[in-house]
Amino acid sequence: MKREIIHALEKIVGKEQLATSDEECACYSFDGTGRSFIPEAVAFPDSPGQVSAILRLANRHRFPVIPRGAGSGMTGGSLPVRGGLVLAMGRMNRIIEIDAANMIAVVEPGVITGELQAGLAGHGLMYPPDPASLKFCTLGGNAAECAGGPSAVKYGVTRDYVIGLEVVLPTGEIMTTGVRTEKGVVGYDLTRLFIGSEGTLGVFTRLVLRLLPLPEAGETFLLTFSSLREATTLVGTLLRAGLTPCTLEYMDETAIRVVRDRISLALPDTTRALLLLEFDGSRAEVARQRRHLDHLLKGRSLTCRRAENDREKEELWQARRAISPATFAIRPDKIGEDVVVPRSRIPELVEFTTSLARRLGLTILTFGHAGDGNIHVNIMIDRSDRHELDRGLAAKKELFQRVLELGGTLSGEHGIGITKSAFLPMEIDPVALDLMQRLKHLFDPANILNPGKIFPAG
Ligand SMILES: Cc1cc2nc3c(=O)[nH]c(=O)nc-3n(C[C@H](O)[C@H](O)[C@H](O)COP(=O)(O)OP(=O)(O)OC[C@H]3O[C@@H](n4cnc5c(N)ncnc54)[C@H](O)[C@@H]3O)c2cc1C
Repeated sequence: MKREIIHALEKIVGKEQLATSDEECACYSFDGTGRSFIPEAVAFPDSPGQVSAILRLANRHRFPVIPRGAGSGMTGGSLPVRGGLVLAMGRMNRIIEIDAANMIAVVEPGVITGELQAGLAGHGLMYPPDPASLKFCTLGGNAAECAGGPSAVKYGVTRDYVIGLEVVLPTGEIMTTGVRTEKGVVGYDLTRLFIGSEGTLGVFTRLVLRLLPLPEAGETFLLTFSSLREATTLVGTLLRAGLTPCTLEYMDETAIRVVRDRISLALPDTTRALLLLEFDGSRAEVARQRRHLDHLLKGRSLTCRRAENDREKEELWQARRAISPATFAIRPDKIGEDVVVPRSRIPELVEFTTSLARRLGLTILTFGHAGDGNIHVNIMIDRSDRHELDRGLAAKKELFQRVLELGGTLSGEHGIGITKSAFLPMEIDPVALDLMQRLKHLFDPANILNPGKIFPAG
């Protein structure tokens, strides 16, 4: 990056808030994909005005600017694939307002998701989206990816809770969108357009979030099965019967194996799959759901254990959240996908991945948000083994084809980034794809904001 640009950046954010050394830049070069692209500099802005000045400078000098939250993204969204400046949003981490009367929070994008949730509990409120990364990911990153989590089966995903934004456009204008009310239909819904835009249409500097009352009670159950099909089929049966769990997570045998030593609840030796199920609500409602569950499970060949206390419950959650990192005990790398299929097609998807693994000689494990059909498919590989990498990539393509045949979609929450951009035309209609690219050009004519993401190269 030219000296002149570095000087201008120092003027905007202050010398202390600009990193240019190789060591510092390396710290902002990676994300959850394990890939690394070293930026030319990293700026730590603390106001929308600074973000705006940086973007205006980038338009003048044509350098890429890449917004970054905690760098936990799974598709390369925060990676500076074309060099340029990483915009690290971590200093903008204030909870500006909790309006308990209207159940609204106003936050800066660098707030850690779990920290907001912890802060709200004292007000008897909750912000439901709960990605497994909640202890370290940011609300800005969540909004840019439209993050979801186990509770999405009952409560929905990030887009259902962000009702307004302050955004700095790629050309530097500062704009607000949305409302602070429960309803609002004035003009196009630009808030929704920004949610899930993966840092390509604007930089969020403030978010207005909808909150809910904190449920009075909750109960967690662990269901173990000796048949994978039995587990995946039960998901639809329970929901059709009227149960409204706030979590319905699934793990296959390999996923269980990688976290088994973290679960002290005894699992039968014959366990081939498990479901983690949770109800919340008033005490009476939770008790009613438990009775309904008992009734629905009668006569089935499975075991059902209730977490007896907070420790057992927390342990189950820790095991669930640990699956993704724990998979590296199997192979050093993975191709991790978060496909979604209609719930009734989950058994077919899971059986397909089992036969795909067998045919290609790979370990493929599946787990995730079965309640909403969002299954994490982890194709375990060693990238240094060319043949294994090729087989892994072939498996990914076949998986995507099958998911679309089943009426599904390529990503439920991780987004497209760089890891799925080549596959976008498989799912998106060419007219819609062209419109999306024209929208990007309209927002960002110089293509300086997070270039090289979402859309296929060329
Ligand atoms: C162990 C683990 C478990 C995970 N579990 C889940 C899960 O259950 N559900 C889920 O949805 N995801 C999950 N993820 C993925 C990841 O945590 C989410 O995508 C999260 O939303 C990313 O937040 P971040 O702050 O790390 O963003 P980053 O990774 O830093 O950035 C993600 C994207 O957001 C953009 N961005 C960041 N901040 C801003 C901003 N202020 N304005 C505009 N764009 C911005 C970036 O440019 C990038 O495109 C998991 C990741 C890990 C490592």
